[in-house]
Amino acid sequence: MRITVLGKSPSFPDAGGACSGYLVEGGGQKVLLDCGPGVFAKLRTVVDYADIDAVVISHLHADHVMDLVPYASGIRYRSWDGAPPHPRLIAPPGAPDVFTKLCEGGSMSPDHLELAFDLTVYDPAEPLTIGGLEVRFQPVPHYIPANAVEFACDGARFTFGADCGPSEDLARFASGTDLLMVEATLLEPEPPDDRGHLTPFEAGEHAAQAGAKRLVLTHYADEAGVDWVCDQAARAFDGPVEAAREGSIYTLGE
Ligand SMILES: [Zn+2]
Ligand SMILES: [Zn+2]
Repeated sequence: MRITVLGKSPSFPDAGGACSGYLVEGGGQKVLLDCGPGVFAKLRTVVDYADIDAVVISHLHADHVMDLVPYASGIRYRSWDGAPPHPRLIAPPGAPDVFTKLCEGGSMSPDHLELAFDLTVYDPAEPLTIGGLEVRFQPVPHYIPANAVEFACDGARFTFGADCGPSEDLARFASGTDLLMVEATLLEPEPPDDRGHLTPFEAGEHAAQAGAKRLVLTHYADEAGVDWVCDQAARAFDGPVEAAREGSIYTLGE
């Protein structure tokens, strides 16, 4: 399995960067995980988007879904030899309504996304398969319903924590994973009754609790600094720690 970071920014893109987006390749599939602002252009630098089999969405915040709109335009308005691509769009409950509003509000036709993609609303309690990739979900605490996502293939596991506040469920879900990618949005914790993100130190605590083989921090602003986020996480986790950079590639298994 191979993971390419397309966008690692938090809710506002870094200079030249993109919000949440990762290309997951394995089991004969190419899957885009999240599609935040700037991700579609980054995707096009590494793969022909006609070859994407499915898009999986962790949650419906703008910084994780906005580029579905230009992606749909790229499917519908480009001239194709033969039928245009029609990738699966695997999205959380509530997605049809949010997608309709997103397109209406953007002066597109309300069914812009549904015309471009083969939309499936997933039940976070139900695993699913995308070709040879096994996909599982774990609801995590955030300001709206959000789901950690795990991809497994040929004995290798990649666990993406989505946006989340402190969560024992996430640590349990990620137990023993080969690569845990966790958000490190905050410079310091939010008030205890309003948690929806993590500091890099807390991300490290989750990796330690999960016994993850490797930790990659994401969803941090460049202003926080790669060294600072890694140093913070390493105070809590003694395994390998890296900070995601756009263009970073992680290979698991084989
Ligand atoms: Zn986010
Ligand atoms: Zn979010």
